[in-house]
Amino acid sequence: MRKPMFSQGKEIETRCTKCRKITSHLIVTMDESTPGKVLCNICGRQHDYRTDATNQKTAVRQTRLAKAAERKEWEDLQPTIANVEATDYSMTAHYKLRSLINHPTFGLGFVQRIVGPQKIEILFEDGKKTMRCK
Ligand SMILES: [Zn+2]
Repeated sequence: MRKPMFSQGKEIETRCTKCRKITSHLIVTMDESTPGKVLCNICGRQHDYRTDATNQKTAVRQTRLAKAAERKEWEDLQPTIANVEATDYSMTAHYKLRSLINHPTFGLGFVQRIVGPQKIEILFEDGKKTMRCK
């Protein structure tokens, strides 16, 4: 893959967030090897450099897919957790895998994974979250 060399003050063809099309931009700042802020030569708007608009769409779609998968996981869990007693979540409590907690903000959650020495991954109705524990 050919990698174009960028530098401050050079021109670059990229998508303008205001013109909503590919226009010629001036590189205002550099973020290591990629442009940071760019200035549109057409409308004069300065904005963050975006590598590719389609990449962003893919990322959003992947997030949605992950959310849908987590939601499905949560629904599949319902018969399992129906018979488990939930305990109120506390940062200082010790949790075991497959225990059910009751979080003041997120509601019921199922301990799915021990992520680190003091971190657990909990599946809530609206997705997975990493929480502190003892
Ligand atoms: Zn523009």
